[in-house]
Amino acid sequence: MPARVRFAPSPTGNLHVGGARTALFSWLVARHTGGTYVLRLEDTDRERSTPESEAQILRALEWLGLNWDEGPYRQSDRGEVYLSAIDRLKDAGIVYAAWETEAELERQRTDARQNKRAPVVRGRRDWTAEQIAGFEAEGRTPAWRFAVEVTGQTVIDDYVRGEVTFEHGAIEDFVVARSDGTPTYNLAAAVDDMEMGITHVIRGEDHLSNTPKQMMVIRALGAEPPEYAHIPLILGPDKKRLSKRHGAASVEELRESGFVQPAVLNALALLGWSFDDKTTMFTVDELIEKFSVARISKSPAIFDLKKLEVLNGRYLRMMDADAFADALVAHLARRGFFADKDAAAEALVREIAPAVKRKLTTLDDFEALAGWLFRPLEIEPDAWESLTADVRKSIQAIGGGLARLELLDAFEQDEIKDALQDQLHILGEDARGFLEPQRIALTGQRVSTGIYESLVLAGRDEALGRYRQTLARLADIWVA
Ligand code: GLU
Repeated sequence: MPARVRFAPSPTGNLHVGGARTALFSWLVARHTGGTYVLRLEDTDRERSTPESEAQILRALEWLGLNWDEGPYRQSDRGEVYLSAIDRLKDAGIVYAAWETEAELERQRTDARQNKRAPVVRGRRDWTAEQIAGFEAEGRTPAWRFAVEVTGQTVIDDYVRGEVTFEHGAIEDFVVARSDGTPTYNLAAAVDDMEMGITHVIRGEDHLSNTPKQMMVIRALGAEPPEYAHIPLILGPDKKRLSKRHGAASVEELRESGFVQPAVLNALALLGWSFDDKTTMFTVDELIEKFSVARISKSPAIFDLKKLEVLNGRYLRMMDADAFADALVAHLARRGFFADKDAAAEALVREIAPAVKRKLTTLDDFEALAGWLFRPLEIEPDAWESLTADVRKSIQAIGGGLARLELLDAFEQDEIKDALQDQLHILGEDARGFLEPQRIALTGQRVSTGIYESLVLAGRDEALGRYRQTLARLADIWVA
């Protein structure tokens, strides 16, 4: 049956890993069933909702490819719908005016705790007409609370968690409209799910305790609640609740730090879902085909940035040369890499792309690996330290390499490699001791693109110029 599924973020911050996973699972259910994906922005918290966050969420969803069929609806545009639902609940006597002040409610809660009862708020419903007139004269307006039937239960038949029973005795008479008339989240979400004909609600486990309240509202309005799937919490590798500490950035930050869309999408898909416990790479079509809520695990999911890095590297290596070069150039452009460079820089990036592809974990690694090619030689402090640890040996290695390279007719990778290998044998050096100083002389770094390809990339004049420059610096300390 085609499902109508919604993703309902609150635009009060960026789209983080948890929200993106909810968005993806919901989207997959919609697509798997040939149904509809509804986007609803729950922006009733006017103080915390911002247009920037809204725009950011939409951008992140678009980048992930989670296109929506309806919306974005904004709860802030739907005030009338909620007011009319609240009116219907008032008319049916299901909600009542709650005149208590916050201080009075707090007293109720403290009293309950002292008597070892759950601090479940129930408003007074026996105010006299005079008392009410008195409140009104003071300018008070009531909140409206849902009268929970204390003896009953609500059972959620949850796709992930099975049957979950909530005793009504433990559920407070929750507020549906605040004293300023605005609807609460539980009212608005329930009314929207009902009015929008949502068939399946897929959301984080942290919403589980809201579900019986929303089900009561929907039933009180004469409809049947949707089906629910509460997906497990996400933890970091240390089993603590996922936070920034784990590098669990927003989707946009992941993108900015050079993760590619298929890697992020697959990592999200595997947060609590698995197909066969071993496959980690799916195409979008495979995900749509294979995804099922039945295979969502009850136990917490672990988000491990390291695993995402590994996956990202694999996706980068799988890309064909042109797609990879395009992605790299686009990423560098977004990062402002070309801002201070001339027009040749992009062509150079495309030229080096094949040489760096194997070595990148994220697109962001490019600068660390190959940025040296785009600026004059500048030897990093740790690299200089390693060169000067044994100046004589460094001079020998760089000088020996230079002597051979100068003799080459063709400055091509194979010729370069043969010549340097040959020299290596003559010197009887270990390869590292011979090549590492040359890498530093050329790139200024200890980690870079491979030495042979780096030489080709720099070109004969530039490369040999850098060797000579480094030798001169070393010679200065040698004689000193
Ligand atoms: N707006 C809620 C949130 O961002 C989600 C509500 C829901 O999925 O029902 O947490």
